[in-house]
Amino acid sequence: KSKDKGGNVVAAYVASLHAQAEERRVMEQELRGALDRGEFELYYQPVVTAADGTLNGFEALIRWHNKTLGNVSPGRFIPLAEDSRLISPIGEWVLRTACHEAMKWPSNLKVAVNVSAEQLTDPAFASVVVSALAQSGLTPQRLEIEVTESVFLRDGGGAAQLLDQLIGLGIRLSLDDFGTGYSSLGYLRKTQFSTIKVDRSFVVGAAKGSIESIAIIRAVVALADSLGMSTTAEGAETEIEVDTLRSLGCSNIQGYYYGRPMPASDVMMLFRPPEPAASAAA
Ligand code: C2E
Ligand code: MG
Ligand code: MG
Ligand code: MG
Repeated sequence: KSKDKGGNVVAAYVASLHAQAEERRVMEQELRGALDRGEFELYYQPVVTAADGTLNGFEALIRWHNKTLGNVSPGRFIPLAEDSRLISPIGEWVLRTACHEAMKWPSNLKVAVNVSAEQLTDPAFASVVVSALAQSGLTPQRLEIEVTESVFLRDGGGAAQLLDQLIGLGIRLSLDDFGTGYSSLGYLRKTQFSTIKVDRSFVVGAAKGSIESIAIIRAVVALADSLGMSTTAEGAETEIEVDTLRSLGCSNIQGYYYGRPMPASDVMMLFRPPEPAASAAA
């Protein structure tokens, strides 16, 4: 009897593995045609100055709407795109679209674009950035490229060289999800990042009074300060989290508290002059 039960568990497990593999196969197949079918969209999330809440710019975050699969989150399809060599064309589309869109915003606002480690193994990547800037007319100083520590694990020195090339173009680099990967301080010596992004896990911890999270944010802020870099705390949802981050000295904050990622058209609404009040119009 118990043997049967065990057999059922194994059968269920094997079935779920098959289901996962099948889902992956379908997703990869759909992903192949997604760019041509125009299924991607960029959402933009506000990044504000911690001290006074003024808007600094937006991070571009990709969304995928597929007829068969519905809306698929980047956390699910970006890893698949990275494994199947689809990330370079998708990443190029992201870069061009974000630069183009940012040209419609007030010129003090920056746009941040996520770039995968795989994209940086392509020696042509810098020329894609040059072309995206030239075609859109965006000044390099308004473009920020976000990479994670994983870029340094890939190949010996190639990525660091490419990042230096990008800095040479005048764009900014930020180190995303800091503290969650193989954080080695050596990366901060190797590459002149403009910003270190503090992962949401520390933000949540610090606001709950975790001594470790608070100590880590303090240390990152001090490190960034002394290296001439700024800090952006990710994923602040509550007033307590925002107050905590402000008191810990983070330069910028990004999170649902200030705004969720939104379609480009919603961003444009923010810049529309306010409608005259009904009483004044009457
Ligand atoms: P990320 O670059 O660290 O982006 C921040 C993520 O945190 C976004 O998730 C954002 O929606 C979410 N977030 C922001 N504020 C809050 C908050 O207050 N609370 C919570 N719970 N979450 C918040 P999203 O859009 O699902 O993106 C997930 C990841 O996918 C990104 O993490 C990034 O690594 C990757 N990604 C997104 N767009 C692109 C892209 O265009 N290219 C590449 N290569 N990766 C991308
Ligand atoms: Mg990011
Ligand atoms: Mg992040
Ligand atoms: Mg993250």
